[in-house]
Amino acid sequence: MIEPAELGLLDGFERALINDRLHLVYQPKISLSDGTLKRVEALVRWEDPDLGTVPPSRFVPLAERHGLIDEMTRWGMDTAFRQWKSWHDHGLECELAFNISALSLRALAFPDLVSDYCERYGMPPSCLVLELTESATQPLVTLMDTLTRFRIKGIGLAIDDFGTGYSSLMQLRQLPFSELKIDQFFVADACYNKDSRAIVESIIDLAHKLDLSATAEGVESQEQLQLMKDLGCDIAQGYRIARPLEGEKLADWNKIWSK
Ligand code: C2E
Ligand code: CA
Ligand code: CA
Ligand code: CA
Repeated sequence: MIEPAELGLLDGFERALINDRLHLVYQPKISLSDGTLKRVEALVRWEDPDLGTVPPSRFVPLAERHGLIDEMTRWGMDTAFRQWKSWHDHGLECELAFNISALSLRALAFPDLVSDYCERYGMPPSCLVLELTESATQPLVTLMDTLTRFRIKGIGLAIDDFGTGYSSLMQLRQLPFSELKIDQFFVADACYNKDSRAIVESIIDLAHKLDLSATAEGVESQEQLQLMKDLGCDIAQGYRIARPLEGEKLADWNKIWSK
């Protein structure tokens, strides 16, 4: 049984997906060693004429529940890769990070589909990082084969929201990740709370000992940015650096940022 409210949302989402009314914005990530643009993360947006702005935290789980997530993922990859090619053609070099629902990874053919996008848009696989979060219904450890295929192709895999939810040390031990993203809760708290700071410090240390790079997300202040740098974190992302931007605004942002 689908509740009426959910049905309305689902109906609207399906129409937005079919009519190409979803939209991607892109948030820059910088290298903390030299402050330069390293990568951008594609984030999906849905502004519905009737429902208004619906946050991804509402419609992504909805798409997962109702079998629409694969279609959204394909739409998003095609859109993001096309945008990346446009930046590349204009001499703006950066990597692309893309969020993938664990559910989309169940298909063993998915890594080949991703390779096809890389070929179509001329993106070296080393320029792509897939960001994964575990879900209750699809633990990442069940996806070992698919994840290994990505790594063999040279595509990066980041564990998102590390330190919260279902993410566990066992996953780090068993799965072929290349990067760890520290959840923004700890990043926000680290400047004010010595326990959070100790946790962030330990996560960065752990990442490096496992040959993973560490990204801090949700960096909102200069103080947080400096702390992440001091703690040896590799990459930072957050409002202090940039809000998620329209694709065509990235070059302008980069000009101002790199001044
Ligand atoms: P996430 O992957 O952890 O993305 C980071 C979220 O933090 C984004 O929210 C981003 O806009 C927000 N954020 C970035 N910097 C800051 C900051 O400095 N302060 C604060 N308070 N927030 C910041 P958003 O765009 O609402 O996305 C929420 C979640 O929805 C994402 O969390 C991700 O799990 C999911 N999502 C977004 N786009 C996609 C997509 O294309 N596919 C899939 N499967 N999931 C997506
Ligand atoms: Ca993410
Ligand atoms: Ca995250
Ligand atoms: Ca999140």
